[in-house]
Amino acid sequence: MTSPRIAVVGAGLGGLTLARVLQVHGLPVTVLEREPSPDSRAQGGTLDMHVGSGQTALAKAGLLEEFRALARPEGQERRTLDEHGTLHHHEQPADGDESMPEIDRGQLRGLLIDSLADGTIRWGHGVEEVAGRSVRFGDGSGEEFDLVVGADGAWSRVRPSVSEARPAYTGVTFVETGFEEARHPELASLVGNGSMSAYGPDKAVLAQRNSNGRIRVYAAYRGPRDRPVPEVLAMFDGWAESVRALLLEADEPFETRSLFTLPVGHSWTHAPGVTLLGDAAHLMPPLGVGANLAMLEGAELADALAAALTTGPDVDAAVSAYESVMFPRAARLARFANDGLEALFSPKGVKGALRLFEELHR
Ligand SMILES: Cc1cc2nc3c(=O)[nH]c(=O)nc-3n(C[C@H](O)[C@H](O)[C@H](O)COP(=O)(O)OP(=O)(O)OC[C@H]3O[C@@H](n4cnc5c(N)ncnc54)[C@H](O)[C@@H]3O)c2cc1C
Repeated sequence: MTSPRIAVVGAGLGGLTLARVLQVHGLPVTVLEREPSPDSRAQGGTLDMHVGSGQTALAKAGLLEEFRALARPEGQERRTLDEHGTLHHHEQPADGDESMPEIDRGQLRGLLIDSLADGTIRWGHGVEEVAGRSVRFGDGSGEEFDLVVGADGAWSRVRPSVSEARPAYTGVTFVETGFEEARHPELASLVGNGSMSAYGPDKAVLAQRNSNGRIRVYAAYRGPRDRPVPEVLAMFDGWAESVRALLLEADEPFETRSLFTLPVGHSWTHAPGVTLLGDAAHLMPPLGVGANLAMLEGAELADALAAALTTGPDVDAAVSAYESVMFPRAARLARFANDGLEALFSPKGVKGALRLFEELHR
């Protein structure tokens, strides 16, 4: 039996997990990535990897032990404040609690990249378009595969081959910055070992501890996405000095990240030879779900392909089976993430956030 030619578009967390689990099953795969090298772009903040999704995917990838060596269980500490700096909720992980430890995105991505056979990832291969089973690159050249998996994130170039859906602005924008603990120990102590979130009406200051003594900070607000940074900072005038200082004393350049989503329940009629996973399939607000789900889907799709190929090379049956599980689960989680975003950025401020956390505990 000859193995099918499988192309994964995008070396993000979902695409890399798919490629790794395919290789664990002994199946060949090619990853096509637009960026020129693994380190060409900073990978941003910290992620929590959940038991039952991200951690299940890592176990299927044979990387759970390596993950645990890098992960920070103490990062599960969470503090919730209001705009006056009053602490309303403080969650401390119990000893041995590893249900959702934190890891820097760059470390996790590096772990997955290093686990792949040499030459699996073709860096600098931006995909322009996919038609049927053929991929067209930016330089006009093309290549045929038996299966193309779009794992190319929010602005997927593979998605238009199965769906006309486009991401829409949620109304919430994050402006990101950061600082080193060694330079600002008093600010770092407000954040603790994990994360600190201060909520006021329609806005928040969020801070998260990363590895290597770095803290990432976000000024997050509901409003137009093109607001200049000085105007965004002025929105926090009158807030507790300790909370404002996280923004005003940060020493990294500000970067604006507006949140976009695909429609809840986004799906498509099965198309032979092509599918999507992760943000390309179901971009949703960042409430601790997206990366976990992208990785779980990568692992599940790899398992489905491996199982189908042992009984006969029926790639499309495996993809259909994967999609039939992926669509309803993603719809449920996208509804949760959208409702969560409404609760966190509402005129009720911290009360909306606390009610959401109570519901999550129930
Ligand atoms: C501020 C913020 C915080 C978040 N925090 C969390 C969290 O704590 N927990 C969690 O689970 N999720 C979190 N998320 C969501 C999570 O980041 C995403 O859901 C996740 O990264 C999706 O993974 P992916 O593999 O689908 O896509 P991506 O990670 O976006 O990877 C896509 C890859 O495809 C490449 N690519 C793009 N276009 C092309 C092309 N045309 N050709 C070739 N390659 C291409 C890109 O360069 C990239 O490498 C957060 C998101 C944000 C914005």
